[in-house]
Amino acid sequence: MKKLLPVIFFSSLLSFALWAQKQATDPISTEDIKAQMFFLAADEMAGRDATSPEGRIAANYIASEFMSMGLKPVGDAETYFQNFDMTIGPMDPAETSLKVKIGPSEKTYALGHDFMWTRQSAHPTQVSAPLVFAGYGINAPEYGYNDFSGIDVRGKVVMVLNREPQANDPNSKFKGRWDTVHSYAWDKIEEVRKAGAVGLLIITDKVPRRKQRIASATPNYLAGPAPEYALSGSLWDLPIFSITPEVANEILASVGKTVESAQSAIDATGTPASFDLSNVTVSMSKGFKNLEVRKARNVVGLLEGSDPQLKNEVVIVTGHYDHVGVVSGRIYRGADDNASGAIGVIEIAKALCALPKRPKRSVLFITWDAEERGLLGAFYYVDHPIIPLKDTVANLNMDMIGRDEVSSNWPTPADGNHNMVNVVGTLYNRDIKQVIETQNRGIGLKLDYKTDTVDPESWFARSDHFCFAMHGVPMVLFNTGEQADYHTENDTWDRINYPKMEKIVRLIYLSSLDIANSDPRPKFTP
Ligand SMILES: [Zn+2]
Repeated sequence: MKKLLPVIFFSSLLSFALWAQKQATDPISTEDIKAQMFFLAADEMAGRDATSPEGRIAANYIASEFMSMGLKPVGDAETYFQNFDMTIGPMDPAETSLKVKIGPSEKTYALGHDFMWTRQSAHPTQVSAPLVFAGYGINAPEYGYNDFSGIDVRGKVVMVLNREPQANDPNSKFKGRWDTVHSYAWDKIEEVRKAGAVGLLIITDKVPRRKQRIASATPNYLAGPAPEYALSGSLWDLPIFSITPEVANEILASVGKTVESAQSAIDATGTPASFDLSNVTVSMSKGFKNLEVRKARNVVGLLEGSDPQLKNEVVIVTGHYDHVGVVSGRIYRGADDNASGAIGVIEIAKALCALPKRPKRSVLFITWDAEERGLLGAFYYVDHPIIPLKDTVANLNMDMIGRDEVSSNWPTPADGNHNMVNVVGTLYNRDIKQVIETQNRGIGLKLDYKTDTVDPESWFARSDHFCFAMHGVPMVLFNTGEQADYHTENDTWDRINYPKMEKIVRLIYLSSLDIANSDPRPKFTP
C-alpha cells in the first residue's frame, strides 16, 4: 500500500493539472449558460411547444449558434434542420370504443374507466378480430425469449402484460429488477405491429410502480385536455388501449384463466406461455377531431472528426428543446425541462469547436423536437439516421440537468442533491460509465446510478436516448431528477442550480471528447 501512495499522489496531481488546464481553456461558463437560459425559458418563448411559432424560434436560435461555431449543416438540403411531419388532433371519445364478444355475448367497455388511451398513431382506425394472449409481447433473442413463437398474431388483436418476465426477481435474466428496453410499451407496440397484429391491449399493473408526484402548481397534464401528437409515418400505427386487470380477467375467464395465472405460468420458469383466445372477438375503434399535419424539426450540426478512418463514426450529444407550451393561459416555461439540456448541447459544441485539434471521431449535436409528445423527434431520427446507426458509437443525452432532486420515490432530500446528477442506463453501458467516472475525478460531482437497480419513475424510457437503446446503440441519460416544479409553470430560469449545471455540462463535454478520441468503441451489453 505504502509503495502505491506516491504513484497515486503523482497521478492525482497530474489529473488535477490536466483538469485545471481544461478548466482554463474550455469556454463553458455559468454566465454563458445563464444567458442562454434567460432567452430560451423567457415568458415570450411561451413554453416552446412543438410546432408553435416560439418552438420554431428556439430551433432558429440553436441553429444560429451552430452556424456561428462553424458546425456542418447536415440536415435536410444542407440546413441545420431535420424536418418531419406530425399529425395532430384531439382524440374523439365518441369514435373511440372497445367491445369484446365472447361466444354469443358482447360487452361494451367504458373509455377512461375500463380502458385508457395510450400513445399511438393518429390515423382513424376500426378493427374487429380474434384475440390472442401473447405473454409480455416481447421478442428478446439476446435472452432466448420470444412470446410470439408458436402462435400466429397476424390479423389478430393481441393482449399483453405490462413490463417483463420476473420483473421483481433480482435473478431475472432480464437484468434482475431493472426494466430492460423490452419492459416498455414502445418496444411491445413495435414488436406486435411488425408481427402483423391489427390491435393491442396492454394490461395495466394492479399497483402503480411510482409514488405520487407532489407538484408546486398545476401540472400541465392536469391543466386540460391536450391534442394527440403522432409521427405521420407507420410508427405505432394500430389501435392501442391499456385495459384494467378486471377487464382482462373477464376475458380470460372464458378459458378458465386469470391475469395472475397467465402471468405466473410465465414467471415461474421464465419461459413464454402464450395462447389463442379464438372464442373471443375484440372490436377496437379510434377516431379524432380536426386532424392536421404540421411541421416539426430536429436541429442538427456536425463537427467532423480529424482521423481519416474514425471520422466516419460518430458520438451523438443530445437534448430536447421543446416543452409543453401554454395550457389554460399558464406558461410552462421549461427551464430545467429541457432548456437546460439544449443549452448543454450548445455549450459542449462550443467547447469541442474551441479545441486546437478536432476529436478523432465526428461529433453530431442534435436538439430534439417533440420529445414531450412522445420522443417523436428521436423516434424519427433513429428511423432516418444522418450517420448510420452502426457507425454511431454512443449517444449522451441530457434531459433536465439543472435542479436538485426532490422525489417521494427516493429518500434523499434536496440538500443532499446539490451536487448530484443521475446517470441512467449504465447497466447496458459499463464502458461509458467507466469513461464518465474517470472524467468526473477532476470535477467531483456525485454520480448517482440508483435507477440501474430499480427505476420507479421510468427514467430509462422517459427521454430520447431510449430510441438508441432500442437499437442497441450505447447510450446514457444525464438527469438531475424530479422536483415539485416539474411540468408546472414554476420551472423557471431563476430556479436553476447553475454552478452544478456547469459541472454537469463540463463532465459530458470531457466524456464525449474521451469517447470520440478512444480507439475501442464503448460496448452495449444486453
Ligand atoms: Zn424533458
